Parts: sequence; structure tokens; C-alpha cells
Amino acid sequence: MKILLTGGAGYIGSHVATALVSSGHDVVCFDNLSNSDAAVMDRLEAITGTAIPLVEGDIRDRDAMRYVLQEYGAEAVIHFAGLKAVGESVAEPIKYYDNNVRGTLTLLEAMADCDVHTLVFSSSATVYGQPQYLPLDENHPTSATNPYGRTKLMIEEMLRDVAAADSKWRIAILRYFNPVGAHDSGLIGENPNGIPNNLMPFISRVAAGRLAELSVFGDDYDTPDGTGVRDYIHVVDLAEGHVAALEAVAKSGQPISTWNLGTGQGYSVLEMVEAFERINDVSVPYRIAPRRDGDVASCFASPERAARELGWKANRDLDAMCASSWRFERMLATRNAD
Ligand code: NAD
Ligand code: UDP
Repeated sequence: MKILLTGGAGYIGSHVATALVSSGHDVVCFDNLSNSDAAVMDRLEAITGTAIPLVEGDIRDRDAMRYVLQEYGAEAVIHFAGLKAVGESVAEPIKYYDNNVRGTLTLLEAMADCDVHTLVFSSSATVYGQPQYLPLDENHPTSATNPYGRTKLMIEEMLRDVAAADSKWRIAILRYFNPVGAHDSGLIGENPNGIPNNLMPFISRVAAGRLAELSVFGDDYDTPDGTGVRDYIHVVDLAEGHVAALEAVAKSGQPISTWNLGTGQGYSVLEMVEAFERINDVSVPYRIAPRRDGDVASCFASPERAARELGWKANRDLDAMCASSWRFERMLATRNAD
């Protein structure tokens, strides 16, 4: 298939691009580069041996979306483009509703204009809110505690309405748990601007000496060691989940489906620190800090539906997640030294 990736130059999009090319699909990336760098395209070419086109533009620009869909003959869209920082969404909600919700609406309009009706959407485990039971399956009630989460919920609702109104649509909603790690080559990975919000990039930067110490947000949760438990999933496994979901939804009789992409296994913050230190033979100084607002104690997936319906499951373990994150961090250090 010919697939358009909105936000394709970003962390998850770039990994999905490599997985799609190695499964024989044609890919074009569309990105406004607000949180990524066009140089990633050279690295994708080095990994895949294929020059993947990047069209620079904004998903809120309907003409630009129409142009790229038609020019490249896209048959399906995987929609990653969005803003994703929880704290920033609380401070600047309009920016989040505009970019994420209006952007998705414009994308849907352009897709309908161009008669493209197959869509895979990046949602998040954040839509489960405070877990009422664990592991979280797709039938768990949804709620949101911040504007970022609300944009994901609103988009999910929009997609359900669109699929209900017109049976031509084939839509997959993928609820990611905690994507971490990097491609084995070390060429692409997660490199947030400024101080990272997420645990794994923060740990990598402390290990590299770019940040002094990790603040562990709370050690008094109802978890085995008191620190927060999450379902970390290797980004390459996550990428393979997209290929499986796209292929399943394209030939599905159902207009819309929702799948968790997680491992089903939770690790605490201190387990992550210990694993990163052990596997990479580095030191990650930390101190215990107050809880972070809005955090839940534990969050992990039931990956059963994806296993059953997509024939997909995550295979890469915590060692691979930590080793690949560190390989990417070392690669960044080499690049910065050049
Ligand atoms: P990312 O920031 O690395 O990638 C998003 C890409 O979208 C960036 O390249 C950015 O430049 C682009 N973009 C943003 N707004 C755009 C717009 N208006 N027009 C065109 N391009 C635009 O983030 P990521 O980690 O790769 O996340 C991808 C998607 O997955 C996002 O929708 C995010 O909310 C979702 N998600 C991410 C995580 C995670 O932990 N990384 C977890 C759950 C869900
Ligand atoms: N965390 C932490 N220090 C940090 C960043 C995160 O202790 O600097 C903890 C956080 O409280 C949570 C876990 O690490 O228990 C994962 O946080 P992240 O922000 O990566 O993901 P999310 O909260 O979205 O699941």
C-alpha cells in the first residue's frame, strides 16, 4: 500500500516508516517539523535503503493535505501528528485543541475529499484515566485529567461518529502504553527538545551527564517499591503493531476498531533505573521527589485483543529497551561532537 504518515518525522512515526518499508509498503511523510528535524529522513534512508519523501506542511492546511494525498496516491493514512506534552497542554489548551483536534478534523475532510478512507490513529493509554482495574482492556471506561488527554478522547469520539455515518471508513484507534527505546541502528530515537518530561529520555540524559540527577516522582504509591508502575513498550514492537493494525483494518469488515499496544508487564521507576544502570554499565543518580500531579500509581495493558485479532505481540524485553535507548544517546553525543 501507499501510506501517508502525518508526523512521520517524529519519534514513533520514523520507526513506523522503517517497519512499513521493510514490510514492502510505500511511505510518504508529512510533517511541519515543529518537534522534529528533516535530517531524520537521511537516517531513514540509511536504515531502509529507500529515499522516503518528506512533504513539509501542517495538518491544519486542508489544501496541503489534499495535495499530498493526491500527489502520492495515498491509500491509507497513519496519523501521528500532534502535540503531546501534558504540562504544556494545561498551560496552553487552545494550542492543543487547535493542533490536535482541528488538525485531525482537517485531515478527515481532506481524506474524504480525496476518497481515502483508511486511517490509523495514535491514541494513548491516558484515555483510561484513573484505572478502575488492571490490566486495562479496551472496554475499560475512558476519562481525561488534562487537555492533552481530552484531545485524544475527543478525536476518538469524532472517529467513532465518522465511522458510524459512512461505512466506507476503515479506522484503527491504537492506544499506546509507554513507548521507549530506539531502532537497533542507533540512528533514530527519541530526542525531545528541552528537558524531557518522560522517564526514559530523562534517565538517558542523566546517564550521559547532560542532566545532574533524576527526580523520582513519589515513592509512597501502592506498588511493590512505592514508585509508579508503567507498561514500557519497545518502539520497534510498537511500530510492528502499526503494520499489523493497518493490514488488518484495510481488509476488515468493521468500520472502526480499537487496540491497546502494550506488553502487559509493568515496571516501577526504580526497576527502570536499576535495569538501565545494569544493562549499560552506567550510573543514574536519583533522588526521591514529591508525586507529580495527575500521575496514577500503576498502569498496564491487557494486550490480549491485539494478540487475538492482529496476531501481534511485543517481543522485545526491558534489556533491549534500555540498551537501544543508550545506543541512541551515545549516537547523539557523537553527532553533537562533530
Ligand atoms: P513526536 O513529537 O516525536 O512526533 C509528532 C510529529 O508530529 C512531530 O514530528 C511534529 O513535528 C509533528 N507535528 C505536530 N503537529 C503537527 C501539525 N500540526 N502538522 C504537521 N505535523 C505536526 O511525538 P511521538 O512520540 O512520535 O508521538 C506521535 C503520536 O503518538 C502523537 O499523536 C502522540 O500524542 C501519540 N502518543 C505518543 C506517546 C509517547 O509516549 N511518545 C504515547 C501515547 C501516544
Ligand atoms: N517519572 C519520574 N521522573 C521523571 C519522569 C517520570 O519519576 O522525571 C515517573 C512518572 O511519575 C511515572 C513514570 O516515571 O510513574 C513514567 O512517566 P512518563 O512521564 O514517562 O509516562 P506517563 O506518566 O505518561 O505514563
